[in-house]
Amino acid sequence: MPQFLMPRPGLMLIDFRPRKLAPHRTWSIPLEITKDKIVAFNYTLTDPEGQVIDKSEGRAPMAYLHGCGGIIAGLEEALAGKTAGDELRVEIPPEKGYGQRNEKLLNRVPKEAFKGDLEFELGLQFPVQDQDGKQRLVTIVHIEEGSVVLDANHPLAGIDLTFEVSIVEVRDATADELEHGHSHGEGGHAHG
Ligand SMILES: [Zn+2]
Repeated sequence: MPQFLMPRPGLMLIDFRPRKLAPHRTWSIPLEITKDKIVAFNYTLTDPEGQVIDKSEGRAPMAYLHGCGGIIAGLEEALAGKTAGDELRVEIPPEKGYGQRNEKLLNRVPKEAFKGDLEFELGLQFPVQDQDGKQRLVTIVHIEEGSVVLDANHPLAGIDLTFEVSIVEVRDATADELEHGHSHGEGGHAHG
């Protein structure tokens, strides 16, 4: 018996000989969701009345870079430490979602301020630029004789959200993804 296989008192002899693994039994330690992992997940989002607001069904799973604020805080917190195959239900208050509604973000705008032939319609959403040059989605919430009221709150602000999530994939981010701060590929950020 070679020296290194000699059992010493109190020690178990461990068999280091390689074994043939059956082809379907590949070994991998599931990656946990931690900072700088790319996570792909399917979801259904419902409001407190159980109405479906949004779901990924029929689309590529949603993909994001974990730990970079690419998704709402409540969801990112709930996903931390989970692995592919996990399913979870997360209830998220506005503070951890899209924030509380801010009535200062309601603005009355004269109709003539709009260029082109815009059909003013309740619920119509379109992007505008705010003073800081940031793009915001606004919604027409009121139509009057010569003006409309635009709401720049996020459409989901002030709403308790429930996410049913199933995690599809967890992988390490590529160097490009880390540099850009978002995920690339299916379900991620598409560069023009
Ligand atoms: Zn990018």
